Amino acid sequence: MRRTPLELSHLFTERTGREPDGLWSAPGRVNLIGEHTDYNGGFVLPFAIEQSTTVAAAVRKDRLVRVASTLAPDDALVTVDLDSLEEGAVQGWAAYPIGVLWAMGQRGYRCPGLDLLVDSTVPIGAGLSSSAALECAVALAANDLSGAGIPRRELVIIGQLAENLMVGAPTGIMDQAASLLGDAGHAVFLDCRSGDARLVPLELDAAGLVLLVIDTRVTHEHATSGYAARRRSCELGAELMSVPSLRELAVGDLAEAAGLLDEEIFRRVRHVVTENARVQDAVDVLDRGRPADLGPLLVASHASMRDDFGISTAELDLAVDTALEAGALGARLTGGGFGGAAIALARVDDAPTIRAAVEQAFATAALAAPVVFGVLPGAGAARVA
Ligand code: ADP
Ligand code: MG
Repeated sequence: MRRTPLELSHLFTERTGREPDGLWSAPGRVNLIGEHTDYNGGFVLPFAIEQSTTVAAAVRKDRLVRVASTLAPDDALVTVDLDSLEEGAVQGWAAYPIGVLWAMGQRGYRCPGLDLLVDSTVPIGAGLSSSAALECAVALAANDLSGAGIPRRELVIIGQLAENLMVGAPTGIMDQAASLLGDAGHAVFLDCRSGDARLVPLELDAAGLVLLVIDTRVTHEHATSGYAARRRSCELGAELMSVPSLRELAVGDLAEAAGLLDEEIFRRVRHVVTENARVQDAVDVLDRGRPADLGPLLVASHASMRDDFGISTAELDLAVDTALEAGALGARLTGGGFGGAAIALARVDDAPTIRAAVEQAFATAALAAPVVFGVLPGAGAARVA
């Protein structure tokens, strides 16, 4: 349920006893293509979605931060003093918003004390980056209320720092970049080596298309260790190929790599190198206004993650295969793998059939029911009241 700005303002007043100075919203994101390329200095192509997180905020005269969320299990305000905050000191969900204010300080910007109330329509833990939506909404609010005038590219880094050092999750810049630099009807073509971003037209609804998210609701226990192992394989591959990162390798270098690397490392490297090429192909397709042509690239991306990178699961393969059989134009797992969600590009008219087919296939396989819903490219982060 989406609360209106007025409803959230009233709730803020109930919780804090005062009126907010303003409301700021930041969207979640979905990654169209470009998986495990970010930490290899490569390319990703996410887009901001219509689901977003809104924060109502008011400046305080002291240096305290008080934060509450409509989604947090208890209603209590989490309170900290900005002057005595240390890396990793905040536990639980409040580490995200408070981490942003801490990271601003680390980057040399002075943030005033704040009261914050968070509300969100981004599903949590479904691979749509509710975490970045929360960070970016708070970062925009703090930026405006402090008058610091921090450029958005720097706010991306501040969000990442909060997540890396206060929350302790080793994530890249993709999610924050999509949320802060995204725009309605566009994807964000992000170069993770330079941090440069460009908007690429993605008018799915005009083309009669929708992107379905199929959340398998299964995350395997070894997801964290599997992610770390893949990062190590990529580092090793780059070292053996004498390049600073796998980004430096082109598809034409793979023949040489095949001779130098053992079979498994070679397959890991081949995924990253071909995935970077697929992202660039996807951008070409979108620049030519042909979003339906993304389909084969999504299919190839999934095959590469399944066969070369080894991060798919039975549930994700079932979701992808069933969606394709039921008429999806393309489908692939999205996110880090070892569970989580898949995406499927579909004609709007085919979406109900695909959804029913996936639900049926999961039921037949005696798997927990997946959650299937559509997403469309939405606006980037902005002040809303
Ligand atoms: P994802 O970003 O894919 O949704 P993460 O595990 O990275 O999943 O982030 C989810 C966490 O972010 C939640 O467990 C919670 O701690 C925090 N979070 C996100 N949105 C909210 C919110 N609206 N209120 C409180 N906490 C939130
Ligand atoms: Mg996240």
